Amino acid sequence: MIKGTFPIAKFRELETPFYYYDTKVLRDTLAAINKETGKYGNFRVHYAVKANANPKVLNIIRESGLGADCVSGGEVHAAINAGFPSEKIVYAGVGKTDKEINYSLDHDIFCFNVESVPELEVINELAAAKGKVAQVAFRINPNVGAHTHANITTGLAENKFGISMEDMDTVIEMAQSMNNVKFIGLHFHIGSQILDMGDFAALCNRVNELQEKLAKHQLICEHINVGGGLGIDYGHPNHLPIPNFADYFATYHKFLKLYPNQTLHFELGRAVVGQCGSLISKVTYVKQGTNKQFAILDAGMTDLIRPALYQAYHRIENITSDEPEETYDVVGPICESSDVFLKAVDLNKAHRGDLFALRSAGAYGEIMASQYNCRELPKGYISDELV
Ligand SMILES: *Cc1c(COP(=O)(O)O)cnc(C)c1O
Repeated sequence: MIKGTFPIAKFRELETPFYYYDTKVLRDTLAAINKETGKYGNFRVHYAVKANANPKVLNIIRESGLGADCVSGGEVHAAINAGFPSEKIVYAGVGKTDKEINYSLDHDIFCFNVESVPELEVINELAAAKGKVAQVAFRINPNVGAHTHANITTGLAENKFGISMEDMDTVIEMAQSMNNVKFIGLHFHIGSQILDMGDFAALCNRVNELQEKLAKHQLICEHINVGGGLGIDYGHPNHLPIPNFADYFATYHKFLKLYPNQTLHFELGRAVVGQCGSLISKVTYVKQGTNKQFAILDAGMTDLIRPALYQAYHRIENITSDEPEETYDVVGPICESSDVFLKAVDLNKAHRGDLFALRSAGAYGEIMASQYNCRELPKGYISDELV
């Protein structure tokens, strides 16, 4: 079994479980994004803060020049604290509260991705009260399915997100009649962990249709935002740590018809941070069952909920044993039957005190941790601080 390389001696000094972020992988990933988008002058990438808002991770992403995509006032705050320039912050979400909108107006963020008519009215009112004009884009539900888990597709008609295509013209007209909002673009996001470039091509075709419809009324917006959703290879974090950004951006370049001077925005989360992170956990007990054996970890679904929530696969490695492999169900200590990381997995023979790495956990890991069972939240360390 080919394993990742980890600073085991340093790990031994730390209390487990904790998240570990390999900054070389993160920086290489960011460099790959910048290299690919650099081929097309008008592509802008915003990092989806909801994937991981660890301040040390955010800081490295901000240094690379990416913008920030936020889905709550708290995320706008986290992005501003990490030093993202306000003109690179976009904010989507179906339920933006007055407090969140006011906070974002005070910081003059680049764009509100508006998801309903009542929200547009509230932004217009709150902006008027401050004597400001808020830039808005409409999140359009393109009714494009993605070949991914049902809980993480967001672009189908029955979804709560966005405004329907039929209502697009009406909401744009409404915005144009208002004094304190400025319509600047269209926004889309079809789902997450998408590996089939055909899904993104389908979105491009839909965007082209909508743009043609608007162009008939001489309406050409400055910005198109196609959201995020590019997946990562959970099966092979050691061989393929960097997602295929070349194909991803080339798909948009090939299929999306941009009008002159339009800028194309992306909101990538998982693809930016997924592979740089691992959850490091200690084996508390190895327990013999009737027909199987369990490796019981000190990490549970409270630290990494994706397996319990989405039946997600995370590769597991015993990073402190080279003994011949045995088969284990790897479980956590939480009082829930769904607190299982992986069943019937072959791992180097496990002992009490061994360290396990749950790989590809940089996205939707630490940020989704909870204190259920009165547990402490896991800490997060970057490799730079463990040398
Ligand atoms: C979650 C989300 C993203 C990022 O999705 P990934 O699959 O992590 O790339 C982008 N935009 C919006 C609006 C989102 O809600």
